[in-house]
Amino acid sequence: MIEWSAEDLMIRDAVRDWIDAEVRPNLDALDSGELPPYDLLRGLYKTFGMDEMARSSFRSRLDKERAGEPSRADDDRPGGGNAAMSMLPVIELCKVAPGLVSAMGVSLGLAAGTIMKRGTAEQKERWGLDLLTLDKVGAWAITEPNSGSDAFGGMQATARKVGDEYVINGSKTFITNGPYADTIVFYCKLDDGRPARDREILTFVLDRGMPGLDQTRPLRKMGLHSSPTGELFLNDVRAGEDRLLAAGSGGGKESAKQNFVTERAGVAAMALGVIEECLKLSVDYARKRELWGQRIGDFQLIQLKLARMEVARLNVQNLVFRHVEMQRQGRTPTLAEASAMKLYSAQAASEVAMEAVQLFGGNGYMSEYRVEQLARDAKSFQIYAGTDEIQVTHIARDLLSR
Ligand SMILES: Cc1cc2nc3c(=O)[nH]c(=O)nc-3n(C[C@H](O)[C@H](O)[C@H](O)COP(=O)(O)OP(=O)(O)OC[C@H]3O[C@@H](n4cnc5c(N)ncnc54)[C@H](O)[C@@H]3O)c2cc1C
Repeated sequence: MIEWSAEDLMIRDAVRDWIDAEVRPNLDALDSGELPPYDLLRGLYKTFGMDEMARSSFRSRLDKERAGEPSRADDDRPGGGNAAMSMLPVIELCKVAPGLVSAMGVSLGLAAGTIMKRGTAEQKERWGLDLLTLDKVGAWAITEPNSGSDAFGGMQATARKVGDEYVINGSKTFITNGPYADTIVFYCKLDDGRPARDREILTFVLDRGMPGLDQTRPLRKMGLHSSPTGELFLNDVRAGEDRLLAAGSGGGKESAKQNFVTERAGVAAMALGVIEECLKLSVDYARKRELWGQRIGDFQLIQLKLARMEVARLNVQNLVFRHVEMQRQGRTPTLAEASAMKLYSAQAASEVAMEAVQLFGGNGYMSEYRVEQLARDAKSFQIYAGTDEIQVTHIARDLLSR
């Protein structure tokens, strides 16, 4: 694949028109955190029939599973695995408000994705469908104050078996959608007396309002304000076996690792949106801004910035196209490939956006010109879904293990 098809471009233009009409006028409210993103995202889903597509693919996936036929992991994604239909809205939304994609991606890809991979048919019916249609908001909670990059080793949240139930205690931080989530996929360790590092990882599905579960208000942060991030506190939350996600090989740890690959490859599409927008805004500005009787685009140091942005755009676009092509062939990137995609494209988006701020001079530092928001938002790509440093370790570990 070297280009989007004519049909892809029609989808892109329709999404772009919707974003211009619905998202751009709300950017200030989104970036101040005053407007949670969920009604806008539901509007996107309804406008493009993605809620209905999700509903019908959910039904056919469950029917297949009940009939004993294998289903593909992306059967219940909007467009049933049509890469353009899932990638183009991500790219277009990230030109304007990358947080919308984080909020949506965590709810659909991580919360619903884990339930659809590891849940029983009853659990999928109970929680999966409402998440996949965006009727409900999902969160996916691993990170704790003392265990970020060492997520499983340092995990302190516990579940203790008492009769037929588990009693869960612990806290989570930096949880996307945490403040508003209706459904929370929660990771903790079975408290069975073994040393903490050797304990089994369990995954529960929790509902907003359960006794002992406290979801905080959004944390104040640097950027990505259109994706609310919060803390969770659990004090003797009682969960029955019906809330335990037990299916899937390798348990909670392995399933979380499988999510890394999808999430990391997705960051490349997000980065592409930021890069394309920053490049477009920078070229426009370099043409219009005049100093010393000439446009700043005639200065070689400005040209170097534009050239580097174009190199980054081409490289990240190639990664995205390669990923689309692999999806079409039903191939999944290796951990090293997905981590390399994330490492490169997150750094590229962050650098391009910061260079755009520089190119705009004082105006770049002002919100009105938009590049400062994209720079603040893009920085998060280098931290969540594994920091840059962790991508390096995962790439090397995967390569060395072969
Ligand atoms: C906006 C946002 C949204 C998030 N959403 C979620 C969510 O929905 N669910 C969730 O569970 N988590 C979420 N996170 C948490 C995120 O995954 C963690 O912040 C991330 O994994 C890093 O962990 P940490 O913040 O504890 O940093 P730490 O692990 O404390 O890292 C501190 C520094 O040490 C470096 N470091 C750590 N280990 C190594 C090593 N082995 N070698 C070299 N350097 C190392 C790191 O790269 C970093 O520079 C989110 C974070 C952010 C910022």
